[in-house]
Amino acid sequence: MTAGFTRRRLLGLAAMAPVCAKAARTPAETVLTALAADWDVIMIGSGLAGLTAAVTACESGAERVLVLEKGPIAGGHTLYSAGSIAVMSPKRQKPLGIEDSAELWVEDARKAGQTVSAEHIRRLAEGSEEAVDWLQRHGIVFAETVYQAVGDLHPRSVTALGISAGRRYIITLHAAARRLGARVLLGVRAVALGREDSTGRVSVTVGLPDGRGSKKHLRAGGVVIATGGFTANTAMRLLYDSRLTADIPTTANPSGLYWDGASGDGIRMGRALGAAVAGMENIILLPYAGGRLLDYVGGDIYVNQEGQRFVDESAPVYDIAEAMLRQPGPSVWVITDSASRKGASLGLKLTNGTVKRSDTLREAAQSMGVPPAVLERTLREYNEDAVRGLDRHFGKTVFTQTIEVPPFYWGRESVFVHMTLGGLSVTPDAALLDPSRRRIKGFWAAGETTEGIFGRGRPGGMSLAGCLVFGRKAGRSAAERAAALRSQQQ
Ligand SMILES: Cc1cc2nc3c(=O)[nH]c(=O)nc-3n(C[C@H](O)[C@H](O)[C@H](O)COP(=O)(O)OP(=O)(O)OC[C@H]3O[C@@H](n4cnc5c(N)ncnc54)[C@H](O)[C@@H]3O)c2cc1C
Repeated sequence: MTAGFTRRRLLGLAAMAPVCAKAARTPAETVLTALAADWDVIMIGSGLAGLTAAVTACESGAERVLVLEKGPIAGGHTLYSAGSIAVMSPKRQKPLGIEDSAELWVEDARKAGQTVSAEHIRRLAEGSEEAVDWLQRHGIVFAETVYQAVGDLHPRSVTALGISAGRRYIITLHAAARRLGARVLLGVRAVALGREDSTGRVSVTVGLPDGRGSKKHLRAGGVVIATGGFTANTAMRLLYDSRLTADIPTTANPSGLYWDGASGDGIRMGRALGAAVAGMENIILLPYAGGRLLDYVGGDIYVNQEGQRFVDESAPVYDIAEAMLRQPGPSVWVITDSASRKGASLGLKLTNGTVKRSDTLREAAQSMGVPPAVLERTLREYNEDAVRGLDRHFGKTVFTQTIEVPPFYWGRESVFVHMTLGGLSVTPDAALLDPSRRRIKGFWAAGETTEGIFGRGRPGGMSLAGCLVFGRKAGRSAAERAAALRSQQQ
């Protein structure tokens, strides 16, 4: 009985063998094998730029629209972003007494980034209201306030109501893209791009994210490169800034626990295609993802391991980050007191130990390992200067309070790699350019993979605005090119 059963079972298993061999293929491999080769428009990347381009392409008449995403989830850095979107919108700003203009955008961008493309910034400002209205029509409910985002110089940002605004933009646009007929494929990576063939169609070679298995060549009337930046690629960032070693975390993935696809693929593929790449040394470092509790300037100070201040805390983030990197040791301390308005992260940071509370400065200094007498003198001088309105050491003039009401809140703060501003060169219409400033037919690029808009720093809220405005231009143009090629072939 047992032997018969075993023989039957073995025969059964043998008969199933070819089926099992086929079943060993992963779902991603199966999807890739069955994937159609011809598309109207292909988007590479499913962050805000890619999904915006996809939805716009569908709305502009493209029928076969594909979004490629190499990660296991859609959304890229947009998913983790704070969600501030800069918008020049009289109907939103004027009722609050806020004046704004494209020229002011250019001026502010220049202050933040020095070398900017005024033409790109003007297009960004002028397209921003229509883009935010469009997002609203797709179901995003914006809070009524218009505020000055961290890093901007003027109140012009809006955000979705509630928390996780970036996540809301992605979920909303992902659903819209699918509803309009676009295909959004996760776990498929674009590895190479090809110029137009005799029919005018361009190509994208795709494979599995880990490089295993065979590759497939897809063709389209238009391709939008929207692969984000390269903050997660340590080797690439070290090429442009030797201080940005692997131990410096990113704001997108501060504890190394999240998916992060910002590895510069679009820049690498674009360069191989013959696109111009520039501004790669412009990497934004942000000193705000550790023990800092305040979302405004004037209620906290930074001190180094010697217990001394080293910077005007109201300086542009770029200068603060640079000053931090010059201090001995990997991190500094940020201190506030019980009088300041803490952000929503207070509870979490106290619970996970990022921020601690002490009843006296002496006790705080001892726990930090800094000389107590020096820290007490630092705070005494700072408070005298806050009352006078002028900091004797660094010229700070923005004070909202003195820092003297116990308990004191303090935590380690360090520099995080936030965003890359270098990448593919594009026209103000998002068309991909070669080093001679000629358009590379059939290709557009939008979002953090592009360069030339902001220089070495960008005002808060303008990155997401750029994904929307230039993503829309790219999606529309790619759909139009696909339609023109289709009609030629009929
Ligand atoms: C913590 C944090 C907060 C921020 N807050 C704000 C803010 O409030 N306002 C603001 O304006 N900006 C903010 N930014 C910056 C902003 O979020 C990003 O610049 C923006 O989201 C980039 O969007 P993107 O579409 O260009 O790229 P991403 O959103 O990063 O998407 C790119 C996608 O492409 C995929 N991809 C990459 N290579 C390939 C490939 N070869 N094949 C297929 N897929 C690929 C990636 O996996 C990723 O999913 C913030 C950034 C961070 C990290």
